[in-house]
Amino acid sequence: MELVPLFSGSSGNATLIRTDNANILIDAGWNCKAIVNALREVGTSPEDIDAVFITHSHSDHVNGLDVFIRKYPSKLYATEQTFRGIQRRFTKPHTETPDIVIVPGKKTKIVPGLSVVAISTPHDAAGSCCYKIFAEDKTCMVMTDMGYVTEDILAAAKGIDAILIESNYDRRMLVYGDYPEDLKARIAGDGGHLSNDDCAEAIKLLIDSGTRKFILGHLSENNNTHEKAEKTVCDYLSSHKFRKGKDYELTVANRYEPTSALCF
Ligand SMILES: [Zn+2]
Ligand SMILES: [Zn+2]
Repeated sequence: MELVPLFSGSSGNATLIRTDNANILIDAGWNCKAIVNALREVGTSPEDIDAVFITHSHSDHVNGLDVFIRKYPSKLYATEQTFRGIQRRFTKPHTETPDIVIVPGKKTKIVPGLSVVAISTPHDAAGSCCYKIFAEDKTCMVMTDMGYVTEDILAAAKGIDAILIESNYDRRMLVYGDYPEDLKARIAGDGGHLSNDDCAEAIKLLIDSGTRKFILGHLSENNNTHEKAEKTVCDYLSSHKFRKGKDYELTVANRYEPTSALCF
């Protein structure tokens, strides 16, 4: 199984999951051309995408969806409320493609040997969720856009093989930055995003549960840097005696281009 972030950040998100049986895309948050180019760059043809899963209807997750899915028809999965949000956004409905409603908590078989379960996320978009993917004896998760890590999310993530986890903002950069106060409160609130510190705490719990492979993703363009996210997480983990490269592997997803595939 391979987890390949195509691009990641508040400017746009899409992640490819490759298994022996299927290729699935989680989110389509850039224009179609950029998604197609990124897929080709990592050696996957857009025609070979079997299913697209949408986490929620914010534009950085669905910008390219309508065009992509009409050009390369595949099954489209989202929660019922996310579908309503998507339909409000698009002028031309993608009528050729079956829209498959996914119910959080219910494991759904996508193709033989590959199943997915959605877990609801606390985020300011109705029906927002993250996804856990099961392929043979391997599991991974794409877990971004959440104000905090709920008990359900943590329970689902414990012991998985690999995870793309949100490390959205550095607390100091957000507090002292020039965003309006109401926006700062939204980002830091329960329906907003995970800070680097929140992410570090979650990763510590996941390492305790046996997870070893991490990619930090969905970094804020204005309130975070690659270096700050990585340093905050690694410093916290080393304070708990976890050594990078020995107890865990960690990379940071690129904002505008594919990140090296995480294989497990
Ligand atoms: Zn987002
Ligand atoms: Zn969002």
